[in-house]
Amino acid sequence: MRIGIDLGGTKIEGLALAPDGGEVQRRRVPAPRGNYDDTIRAIVDLVRGLEHDAAARASVGVGIPGATSPATGLIKNANSTWLNGRPLQSDLSRALAREVRLANDANCFALSEATDGAAAGAAVVFGVIIGTGTGGGIVINGRVVVGAHAIAGEWGHNPLPAPEDDERPGPECYCGRRGCIETFLSGPSLARDYIAHGGDDLPAIEIAARADAGDAGAIACLERYQRRFARALASIINVIDPDVIVLGGGLSNIARLYDSVPRLWGPHVFSDRVDTRLRRATHGDASGVRGAAWLWD
Ligand SMILES: [Zn+2]
Repeated sequence: MRIGIDLGGTKIEGLALAPDGGEVQRRRVPAPRGNYDDTIRAIVDLVRGLEHDAAARASVGVGIPGATSPATGLIKNANSTWLNGRPLQSDLSRALAREVRLANDANCFALSEATDGAAAGAAVVFGVIIGTGTGGGIVINGRVVVGAHAIAGEWGHNPLPAPEDDERPGPECYCGRRGCIETFLSGPSLARDYIAHGGDDLPAIEIAARADAGDAGAIACLERYQRRFARALASIINVIDPDVIVLGGGLSNIARLYDSVPRLWGPHVFSDRVDTRLRRATHGDASGVRGAAWLWD
């Protein structure tokens, strides 16, 4: 049996897969925000619960919101900042008395969608998780591109391309820079933008629902968001030229993105035509946890 764990900013999901890939059981618990030791305990409890119910021992793969530094073995770049600088892989392996494999959650997501999801059969795939953050992963010919620093695909902390006057220098980011793509495209960033323009304090997905209902302020907010999204993805298209870009995470449920963003990215792409397809994840929220389970062959 294989167990995949998706360690998110707000929840931790566990999935047990049978040897044939069928789903055995799925469990979800809130993430112990800000507490590393409780995070370890929550993952251990999830694994033990899944193994107990299935009466089987499993391999364990974990999708994390960051990366394990190839140089130090410590977590870096996690927007769940309480993980940064911690030896999560070795701590989990010790706590579970087996080797545990870790991979960036967006890499797990991109691999899952490239294998049997929205980008199945595509040669070059860019996967994006837009929720509390804006992770990205690259899969080429069915293989995750990890990179020398384990940051391949991490577009979220590049500056927003072609910023307009009111987008400079941009919001402060937890990474220490200003105006990062993530500070414009994450769910909390969309919500902040709505407030800054006189809107109510609402989750991003509810602002999108208001826009669908015809609310002028929400529509304007979504239009700003779509223009930013298009510029940010155009820079990805110029560099890795994906056949398919797959969106996952909470904001991937905003239906208008799939029509509006490709209509807006053309002027920013170095090509006379842009055939890149922008698609919603087939496996939805399950893609990260499925990709994590498949970290073991
Ligand atoms: Zn940043």
